[in-house]
Amino acid sequence: MNRKNLTVLTGATTDKIVFEGKTAIGVEYRKWGRKKTAYGAEIISCGGAINSPKLLQLSGVGDENTLKNLGIKPVHHLPGVGENLQDHLELYVQYECKEPVSMYPALKYHNQPKIGFDWLFRRKGAAATNHFEAGGFVRGNDEVAYPNLQFHFLPLAIRYDGSAPNKGHGFQLHVGPMNTDVRGHVKIRSTNPDEKPEIFFNYLSTPQERKEWVEAIRVSRDIIAQPAFDHLRGKELSPGSEAQTDQEILDFVAREGESAYHPSCTCKMGLESDEMAVVDESLNVHGVKNLRVVDASVFPAITNGNLYAPTIMVAEKAADMIMGHTLSPAKDAEYYRYLPEHAPAPEEDAALA
Ligand SMILES: Cc1cc2nc3c(=O)[nH]c(=O)nc-3n(C[C@H](O)[C@H](O)[C@H](O)COP(=O)(O)OP(=O)(O)OC[C@H]3O[C@@H](n4cnc5c(N)ncnc54)[C@H](O)[C@@H]3O)c2cc1C
Repeated sequence: MNRKNLTVLTGATTDKIVFEGKTAIGVEYRKWGRKKTAYGAEIISCGGAINSPKLLQLSGVGDENTLKNLGIKPVHHLPGVGENLQDHLELYVQYECKEPVSMYPALKYHNQPKIGFDWLFRRKGAAATNHFEAGGFVRGNDEVAYPNLQFHFLPLAIRYDGSAPNKGHGFQLHVGPMNTDVRGHVKIRSTNPDEKPEIFFNYLSTPQERKEWVEAIRVSRDIIAQPAFDHLRGKELSPGSEAQTDQEILDFVAREGESAYHPSCTCKMGLESDEMAVVDESLNVHGVKNLRVVDASVFPAITNGNLYAPTIMVAEKAADMIMGHTLSPAKDAEYYRYLPEHAPAPEEDAALA
């Protein structure tokens, strides 16, 4: 922060990238309601998977027809901007706990001053962890080549936002498929940067995702049904006994599923020959100059796990590329990707559609 060649502006909102022809030369931003322009040799958008495509579209980089319909003069036709949106949908499978060993007492107001004190002055106690300390990856069925479901275990039955706690000891599994084939989009609705874009996740819209969700709930129940849980497992609170058939399970997922807050892939990396690719292997936006995107929007497909570490990896690598460092050689590492031939047969999906 003390460097003379660095200025950090907080509380500033970037509204638009300024172009000279097809070369990005600066950004228009607002701070305290005042509009300003900053110029730079290179512009790097790090607004995340919702805001990077929004900024590009507001600046004239996106699908030409959509931009023209909104009265935006296209700088470059890139139909992939804002497309390919992917996320991890998740929900909780909750149980009552028969033994008084959950974090339930931490919700009682009379226990919270001590918890706060312990954390503030001793960095210990119930507030020194987020309690998602056990997790795992498993296959939804024996045919899947790679673990495709992720679990987090929480020793409490409560919503992710802290609301609706179970009135008593409980625990839950957070579960969801990791390799969705569902694709959504982010699209601006006007030229007003303050207007929220249309965000369409398209959850549960494919046979694959529906199949994986039914399996996710059944595998969760299977794990908790193991003898090791006998002394802890009480009544299933959610989905609950009323969700037994595939359709009942899917109705529950449609009602109760929540974003795991992993939106990504809306400025996907790819070859210029791929019309839907937005950035190249160096994170430069195709078709324009001096503009990169560096955030979770550049993933071509969502990662098979949480996003934060992969995003940091993209950022570290981008920093090396921007500095002109020699990069480590690429490794031919094995990885798993959902393939269309893994999709359930039409008759299998008919019951779920
Ligand atoms: C509640 C929550 C819990 C999560 N938990 C986990 C977890 O446990 N593990 C995990 O791996 N991942 C987790 N994630 C996901 C992870 O945080 C994100 O995937 C990751 O931060 C994405 O990084 P990013 O750089 O792409 O975007 P962001 O981290 O969203 O950064 C984008 C930044 O750009 C700024 N910005 C956007 N638009 C503008 C604009 N127009 N002008 C100026 N600034 C702008 C934003 O304010 C923000 O600071 C969680 C996310 C949320 C929301």
